[in-house]
Amino acid sequence: MSHTTAELEELLMQRSLSDSQLQAAASAAADFRILPDATVIKIGGQSIIDRGRSAVYPLIDEIVSARKAHKLLIGTGAGTRARHLYSIAAGLNLPAGVLSQLGASVADQNAAMLGQLLAKHGISAVDGAGLSAVPLYLAEVNAVVFSGMPPYGLWMRPPASGVIPPYRTDAGCFLLAEQFGCKAMIYVKDEDGLYTGNPKTTKHVNFIPKISVEEMKAKGLQDSILEFPVLDLLKTAKHIPQVQIINGLVPGNLTRALAGEHVGTIITAS
Ligand code: ADP
Ligand code: MG
Repeated sequence: MSHTTAELEELLMQRSLSDSQLQAAASAAADFRILPDATVIKIGGQSIIDRGRSAVYPLIDEIVSARKAHKLLIGTGAGTRARHLYSIAAGLNLPAGVLSQLGASVADQNAAMLGQLLAKHGISAVDGAGLSAVPLYLAEVNAVVFSGMPPYGLWMRPPASGVIPPYRTDAGCFLLAEQFGCKAMIYVKDEDGLYTGNPKTTKHVNFIPKISVEEMKAKGLQDSILEFPVLDLLKTAKHIPQVQIINGLVPGNLTRALAGEHVGTIITAS
């Protein structure tokens, strides 16, 4: 099917913007990837950064050596401080949009710390990963640090129930990878990957090396190792067909995942 710009323009003048024929015409152009050679890695807040030096220093070393061969967009999670803020703010009956701003401030703190640790290697933390100077940083030093919370702020879409913002740093990092058409999305957390249950609270769990979004939902695992909205974002993604979750507490895992090895769990869109 090929649509001309004139056809699309005519549809845009006449139809609702969610009209299906209009949408087909608007997506007929060939795919374009903005940063096809970059990989987004998310450094977990609760799972990694909150553990401090013992977890963070070895990862810094791995990042510094990996960026010789890979272009890295390094996003940060929020973690325990955000959960503390959420508990206070939810107790005060403040809305999801306010909690989103509070959570973002913690992801910002983590990005600031990673930025300081990577500074002597020429790697900077940027405010807002929206293009700004990101391509320049990637071209010059192969890496940049950003705060993982998506910048919805007060405009956060409220959850069906409660006030916890549904789109947090797992979603923020995924959306960046998808919008930029990046090569891969790797989540660095503190378990070897996905299990049949939460290994921190359940006995006798089995490791799942590879699974699709549908299989995950069928097993009731949609709300487990990733924020649940990420699964739906993954299902409808154009550029990112799978995400990988690795244990960042095991030295070498990040390097192996970046080299395309199947460490951890791979969750596929279909
Ligand atoms: P982050 O630090 O990136 O925010 P989280 O702490 O939110 O990471 O998510 C990782 C945690 O998810 C693991 O430490 C683990 O306790 C929990 N988890 C819950 N269910 C599962 C599961 N089925 N398999 C693996 N981990 C799970
Ligand atoms: Mg989390």
